[in-house]
Amino acid sequence: MLVCFVIARPIHLKNISLDKIKNRVTYSLNPKENHFDFYAKKEGNLQPKPLPRIAIAGLGIESSTFSPALTNEEAFHAKYGAAIFSSYPFLSVDSPLRSKAVWIPTLVGKSLPGGAVTREAYESLVNKTLDSLKKYMPYDGLYFDIHGAMSVVGIEDAEGDFITRIRKVIGNETLISTSMDLHGNVSWRLAENTDLITCYRMAPHEDAMETKQRAVKNLLDRIDNGKGKPAYKAWISIPILLPGEKTSTRIEPAKTVYQAVAPAASQQGIIDAAIWVGYAWADEPRNHAVVMVTGDDKQKVVSTAQQLAERFWNARSGYSFVAPTGTLSECLHKALTSTKHPFFISDSGDNPTAGGAGDVTWTLKEILARTEFKSDNGPSLIYASIPGPDLIKNAIAAKVGGQVKGYAGAVVDARYAPPVLISGTVESIEYGDINAEVEVVIRVGSVHIIVTQKRKPYHKEVDFTRLGLNPRKSDIVVVKIGYLEPELYAMRADWLLALTPGGVDQNLERLPYKRIQRPMFPLDKNMKEPDLTARLVPSLKK
Ligand SMILES: [Zn+2]
Repeated sequence: MLVCFVIARPIHLKNISLDKIKNRVTYSLNPKENHFDFYAKKEGNLQPKPLPRIAIAGLGIESSTFSPALTNEEAFHAKYGAAIFSSYPFLSVDSPLRSKAVWIPTLVGKSLPGGAVTREAYESLVNKTLDSLKKYMPYDGLYFDIHGAMSVVGIEDAEGDFITRIRKVIGNETLISTSMDLHGNVSWRLAENTDLITCYRMAPHEDAMETKQRAVKNLLDRIDNGKGKPAYKAWISIPILLPGEKTSTRIEPAKTVYQAVAPAASQQGIIDAAIWVGYAWADEPRNHAVVMVTGDDKQKVVSTAQQLAERFWNARSGYSFVAPTGTLSECLHKALTSTKHPFFISDSGDNPTAGGAGDVTWTLKEILARTEFKSDNGPSLIYASIPGPDLIKNAIAAKVGGQVKGYAGAVVDARYAPPVLISGTVESIEYGDINAEVEVVIRVGSVHIIVTQKRKPYHKEVDFTRLGLNPRKSDIVVVKIGYLEPELYAMRADWLLALTPGGVDQNLERLPYKRIQRPMFPLDKNMKEPDLTARLVPSLKK
């Protein structure tokens, strides 16, 4: 305690020579060092303007409450202090934005989508963030980097809870700028507690980094130009709940709806505009689409928000799956009779990047039971992927080229099928992937199965080639995924989305919702026109 007190004592500049000041670096977690920063930057200026002090914090996950899986603290791969800069290339040492503030990164954690976060993991991560924030106060700004679809066991509106607890520490005057995934949820409480807010404008999220940079730039601009908090924040709840696979911005109608966002945001008097699709696989009142617009021109803020909300609502009947869909057997039949290869099939119900457990065996069992794939020279099929730590142990013992037999999957989610028996030849063993840890390819007939130590999404070509697999030469590639990520999309000769069972079932009508607001499109037929009038979110009291 005593040591902390000594470090925190203010330094009087008259005791320090200019030479000493010049040599200071621009970043330090130590508050007294930060004090030097601004004079080092502004030397020669008799009345220097202090650099703003901006903290960085956030947790990102989308977690399905319809999956029996639970997410622990380790899954967030939390970064602390200066290590956090590596997540933001636009804040690299020589970047223009880095020199515009004294940055105080605290804790940023990102997890693969999964089941609900345990209360213990959430409390631990939140408390570590709050402790770190307390240490380096005060702040002019805070960049809050979240996904927005975190479900926590026993907590309602987790991101709303998190930001409220941050406010209790840093106070209501600090400007908070939040960036989110468009599949996140914006509760009224989150809208109240953040000053600036934005989200991605593309799905798949090719603009993720650009969005984070925009959130940081808006924050710096508002501090720098002295305007501070926006005069108006408009919030509109839209009673629509759709899976991301029906709202890809690659295709209509979401393409046109989202194309209107950037021009709307660049109008005079508007700071930012955003449309959230929301997250379909959790059952809370906040799960629905939202539009928010921030700015200083009341009339423009309100009318822009209403126009965007109406566009989203009016397009509702056009939202459909990004690829033709079918049952698994329909998809396999089409792939086997097609002349187009590689033929991709999304095993969508257990998509780990939407929150599926990633270990549902139902699809793999169906594939292994098909006679077409029984012999080595049958149609080649890559299956990505199934976790099987015990089978991995056997494969390592058998070595590459050896025979292996054992069970995989259905440890977390055994609701649709039990663990699958895999008996085949070990083709490769790879170590060191951050998510999978160990990956093994086992060939069974003409099927190459990727077995992992821990679950991992397969989104990139290199995820396959590093295991000695060539998806471009494979007849069929089945991936636990929803819409194809860009590299897979670019290499597909054809593609079907299989409506398979799992924690992120694409058929929302099969999900047992109890707590979302009703009526909700498309679950409730013949619903009345909703009220899409913008509500202005009041400023927090000082
Ligand atoms: Zn998303």
